[in-house]
Amino acid sequence: MFETAEINIPCPGCGEKNPKTIAWIKTNDHFDCVGCGKSVRVESKELLAGLKKVDDSVASLRKSMRKFGKRR
Ligand SMILES: [Zn+2]
Repeated sequence: MFETAEINIPCPGCGEKNPKTIAWIKTNDHFDCVGCGKSVRVESKELLAGLKKVDDSVASLRKSMRKFGKRR
């Protein structure tokens, strides 16, 4: 659902923020920093866990949406 949402991944080397989409994070495990050009490993599990809060609110939204569509 949030595949196209962008999050900024800070480079551990220079602190430059690298905007990446969720879809990108799911399919990649590293990127070249836009600031220093270093290859940075993406802790996608951690990043996606950080997005769990968003997921939770989406889940509760879906729950309330379900009331409206009883279709299976
Ligand atoms: Zn960097």
